[in-house]
Amino acid sequence: MGMLDGKKGIIFGVANDHSLAWSCAQALHAEGAELAFTYQGETLERRVRPLAESLGATFIEACDLSEDEQIELVFSKLQKHWGHIDFVIHAVAFANKQDLEGHYVDTSREGFKLALDVSAYTLTAVAKYAVPLMNDNNGGSIVTLSYYGAEKVVPHYNVMGVAKAALEASVRYLAADLGEKRIRVNAISAGPVRTLAAMGISGFREMLKYVADRAPLKRNVQAEEVGKSALYLISDLASGVTGEVIHVDCGYSIMGM
Ligand code: NAP
Repeated sequence: MGMLDGKKGIIFGVANDHSLAWSCAQALHAEGAELAFTYQGETLERRVRPLAESLGATFIEACDLSEDEQIELVFSKLQKHWGHIDFVIHAVAFANKQDLEGHYVDTSREGFKLALDVSAYTLTAVAKYAVPLMNDNNGGSIVTLSYYGAEKVVPHYNVMGVAKAALEASVRYLAADLGEKRIRVNAISAGPVRTLAAMGISGFREMLKYVADRAPLKRNVQAEEVGKSALYLISDLASGVTGEVIHVDCGYSIMGM
């Protein structure tokens, strides 16, 4: 018997089989969860559809999270498909490449708006539409993905650090708003993992080596370990946990010197 037998949820942010969203999907599926997936655009559909189908998904839809109408449409289709959901995984972020190199001070207004919109606001937008589908006695669980650059300055992370700080604050405000509906909202602050989005950050390879040299566990975190922590936060094991940012980073964030 799986920990998530009978539970259903939607996953935003699978781009390929290296995506942290995909590791979360695998961990949740292994414990019996039924999963719905979204992808952004035709190119991604070719990659995401076979992955989703390999986990038995029957709901696979396009959704650009920067468009409210698309979010609304996906959740209305999901309502017809399942009636209710138990969880959401939000693993989405974007910033212009030129804003992830050089200095933060050079960030343009447009670059700032784009990064904050896609990487922070979309959690709130998704929560707004997910809540009516979780509005029964069982409540629900929403999990997003953050990074240490929200707390401390990480070279080249720049505007994405500011966006992740807004994302982590959103987690707390959403948790406070939605607690009375028994909906929990948490973030995983993952250590660096080689993914499509991560490779867009200037100096990412050096970051991997730096962290592995200094983290208490003397290595980088594996994508599967992020998936297992998502399973914990979605499952009843975390029934008393909300508004938290859990570091899954081999301990790197505890080090002072
Ligand atoms: P990834 O595989 O590239 O996933 C990022 C996902 O965000 C992609 O599926 C991407 O789709 C999607 N996305 C971007 N803009 C979108 C939009 N407007 N609407 C819908 N989807 C959109 O990279 P990842 O590393 O797994 O990233 C997942 C999350 O983990 C992100 O929030 C990231 O910041 C966070 N995280 C990553 C690391 C790491 O080291 N990898 C560490 C800590 C936290 P497209 O490919 O079409 O843009």
